[in-house]
Amino acid sequence: MANEFLKKVNAQINGAIIISDEKLMEPYLIDWRENFRGRARAILTPTDTQMVSTIMRIADEEKQIIVPQGGNTGLVGGGIPDQTGESIVLSLKKMNSIIDFSPKNRTITVQAGCILQHIHDVVENENLYFPLSLAAKGSCTIGGNLATNAGGLNVLRYGSMREQCLGLEIVLADGTILNELMPLLKNNTGYDLKNLFIGSEGTLGIITGACLKLVSKPSTRATSIAVTDKFEHALVLLDRLQHHSGDQVESFEIMPKTLLDIIYKQFPDISQPIKPETGFILFIEISSSKFDDLRSNKIGQSSLQNIMEYFLETALNDNLISNAVVASNAKQREAFWTIRENAPLATKRESWPVNTDISVRRDKLAQFYYHASVEVAKICKNSRICGYGHIGDGNLHFNVVESEDGDPNWKDKRQSILTAIYSSLEEFGGSISAEHGIGQLKTDQLIETKNPTYYRMMTLIKNNFDPKNILNPNRIIK
Ligand SMILES: Cc1cc2nc3c(=O)[nH]c(=O)nc-3n(C[C@H](O)[C@H](O)[C@H](O)COP(=O)(O)OP(=O)(O)OC[C@H]3O[C@@H](n4cnc5c(N)ncnc54)[C@H](O)[C@@H]3O)c2cc1C
Repeated sequence: MANEFLKKVNAQINGAIIISDEKLMEPYLIDWRENFRGRARAILTPTDTQMVSTIMRIADEEKQIIVPQGGNTGLVGGGIPDQTGESIVLSLKKMNSIIDFSPKNRTITVQAGCILQHIHDVVENENLYFPLSLAAKGSCTIGGNLATNAGGLNVLRYGSMREQCLGLEIVLADGTILNELMPLLKNNTGYDLKNLFIGSEGTLGIITGACLKLVSKPSTRATSIAVTDKFEHALVLLDRLQHHSGDQVESFEIMPKTLLDIIYKQFPDISQPIKPETGFILFIEISSSKFDDLRSNKIGQSSLQNIMEYFLETALNDNLISNAVVASNAKQREAFWTIRENAPLATKRESWPVNTDISVRRDKLAQFYYHASVEVAKICKNSRICGYGHIGDGNLHFNVVESEDGDPNWKDKRQSILTAIYSSLEEFGGSISAEHGIGQLKTDQLIETKNPTYYRMMTLIKNNFDPKNILNPNRIIK
């Protein structure tokens, strides 16, 4: 163990938290999309905050670069070290305990390495609900969710990760522990530092714990898939349903038929409740924990199901949709969401897609979609536009998949396609990252697109919290 940093960790903590075997390190050094591959001196797997603090104190002494990592499901390379092989990956995965769960206070306090799905399971047992939900929920961690300010399927109703967090425990770059794990709904005591760390992607401090707020678990849901010809109809429908349901829309997702075909092709065993000829499909869910909404009519339908059926019926009459299916039980609902959740993996299997994570104001989303589609077609006529996602939040993963017959020049066209999408985005005043963050993927783009004063302020914050630039350097700030 020639490295001074590792020698000190070994002596002051425990050699058992150090992984340096090449084979064992591998899964920590490549991202989910396999776009980033890094090298590292070692992976450290501490089990408590004190260990993280000691690691950071030694890192500060030895000027050792630390790359924090949670579940490694991030999509912008933020948790993958660079190629030099000099970084240390600090994996929070083993810090996965529940510190305090108070159903009466409607809060849960957890270590940062807790898996999102685990939190769902624990609180739902007590009839409570932690709303953040994304396809990676079985692997991503609360620390990673906070560090990226994750979004997902329910932002429309509950907000993103930032809105779910009441307090954080942070280990700063020099090892100081900042504990603000207060389960208080109201706490106006000066600057709200936690909001600096949320979305900072491991560049300002290590999140070691979090206090999260909980809401009532929905006791009834109505879920449907509908087919619409035009993107703009989806937006009309969303607005209509938000009014009709009294803002009980939990998810409203769009997906073009092109992408649905790819999912059916890549996952031939999943259920295929709908097979449209053209257009887009919508995944629609309303939910409620209200007693009134549970009440059934004569044929045993909850009032939410009535709302959903009335909504779909009027949409059909108004030619806003051409077809729809309503889930008649929990199993069917799950089958609908399985289709949606398989979208990222299906495109990854199909080809090497061009991926984006953009947002524009909701009322301009359809125009953006068509504008960007035309621009992409100018470069690559037969490529498949797979722009899907959370339209309620104005957030689309406007992704492009190679033509079905293959394109020998696909590799060369990818950059031009990306440029075309981002030029369209600029015209519509959108954001280059709605929910995935900047990581190492979009640092240059951030410099190009962010207001220079805003960027300078961010640099000042980074320099203040991490003067030796040892925390995830060259992520967000370059
Ligand atoms: C199939 C799939 C679907 C997805 N869907 C969505 C979606 O709908 N919405 C969405 O927002 N994202 C989505 N993602 C992206 C990803 O799941 C989220 O970004 C998630 O929040 C990352 O959590 P993680 O624990 O895996 O973090 P990692 O990937 O390990 O790390 C992400 C970033 O956070 C930093 N970090 C991690 N833990 C800590 C910590 N404890 N302290 C400080 N910094 C830390 C890392 O350095 C890195 O910069 C999806 C990913 C996949 C693979």
